[in-house]
Amino acid sequence: MLVPYMNFQKSEITLQVAQIARDFAQQHIKPHVMEWDESQEFPTPIFKQLGELGMMGVLVPEQYGGAGLSYFEYKTIIEEIAKVDGSIGLSVAAHNSLCTGHILLFGNNEQKERWLPKLATAEWIGAWGLTEPNTGSDAGNMQCTATKEGDNWIINGTKNWITHGRSGDVAVVICRTGEPRAKNNATAFVVERGTKGFSGGKKENKLGMRASETAEMIFDACVIPDSNRLGDVGDGFKQAMKVLDGGRISIASLSLGIAKGAYEAALQYSQERHQFDKPISSFQGISFKLADMATEIEAADLLTLSACDLKTRGESVTKLGAMAKYYASEVAVKVANDAVQIFGGYGYTKDFPVEKHYRDAKLCTIGEGTSEIQKLVISREVLK
Ligand SMILES: Cc1cc2nc3c(=O)[nH]c(=O)nc-3n(C[C@H](O)[C@H](O)[C@H](O)COP(=O)(O)OP(=O)(O)OC[C@H]3O[C@@H](n4cnc5c(N)ncnc54)[C@H](O)[C@@H]3O)c2cc1C
Repeated sequence: MLVPYMNFQKSEITLQVAQIARDFAQQHIKPHVMEWDESQEFPTPIFKQLGELGMMGVLVPEQYGGAGLSYFEYKTIIEEIAKVDGSIGLSVAAHNSLCTGHILLFGNNEQKERWLPKLATAEWIGAWGLTEPNTGSDAGNMQCTATKEGDNWIINGTKNWITHGRSGDVAVVICRTGEPRAKNNATAFVVERGTKGFSGGKKENKLGMRASETAEMIFDACVIPDSNRLGDVGDGFKQAMKVLDGGRISIASLSLGIAKGAYEAALQYSQERHQFDKPISSFQGISFKLADMATEIEAADLLTLSACDLKTRGESVTKLGAMAKYYASEVAVKVANDAVQIFGGYGYTKDFPVEKHYRDAKLCTIGEGTSEIQKLVISREVLK
């Protein structure tokens, strides 16, 4: 059941943050969207600028150099950026909620002081490595190992599909520290770029989200001190699942931004494009599509706000976060598909934004747990 009597009236601060993110996206991202998409360029300077605005450490308390804002503002920022460019939205989300989020949740004070100020200001870009070539949904079966030797850990293995796998200055990496398939057999570590034995590997050539770098991270006898370990030995997988609980709000927000961007473009186009001497919006075949799109976006928005509300109040968000991620991502794919249909042949070209929304949206049903895995999480929760 959703939380009763929720009040989702936007606060003054949320409205201000939305305006700043919207203005930034229009001025600094929109003019370059297709150039970055075509070249698959990861535009590092944009993230530094977003860092100056506090958008790379949204949830990080001010004492660690962050903006100290809530999940409501975080959702708004991801959404406003993704309306214009999903791939920048994805990178901002991964940086904030995965790498930074993991250190924020599970780092000790010394670790927080060491890494969070650099991440929150985007002096450093963060990466987070759970997925491996043979373990995606079945992430608990990881093969990348960390072995204790004296006061150090030696990491060996490969992580792939990692957002900022090459460009990240610092990475949280979840490694196996126990027997395969054993309980509590993984531990999380922080590895800084430049550490001997740590390198970036193949960069993926993707369908969408092309300005967000996705690459391998390779560990070859990479030695790190025990002081880089996050939390207890054996807690890495449990920590990762907690991080992903929040990450699902990110992907729901990313989905909403893409859906809203596609919907707004289609709404406008449907009133401008004339066929049979009428705007195409006057045909029920088009107006009913718009009605469905608007309704589904509204429902996905409310689900995501409910997850933000629970998270803000410190309650478990496992079920609602998975619901929001699952529903919003499927809505994004459907809305982007309908938007291309409303644009007709023009929607199939790169002259209009909807084809990119269509390509970008698909990632949302895959990354940070596929739709099938979200249904697994939700069904476990409802059958408890
Ligand atoms: C652009 C991009 C960015 C990414 N960024 C990161 C990152 O920063 N860090 C990171 O660690 N990972 C990242 N990932 C990895 C992502 O989380 C995985 O791709 C995702 O979890 C799915 O794993 P997989 O691709 O191996 O698919 P698989 O696990 O091989 O799944 C293949 C299919 O089988 C289905 N399936 C699997 N198991 C079940 C089951 N039990 N029941 C029903 N169906 C099932 C899946 O739903 C899917 O349809 C990223 C991926 C992409 C594409």
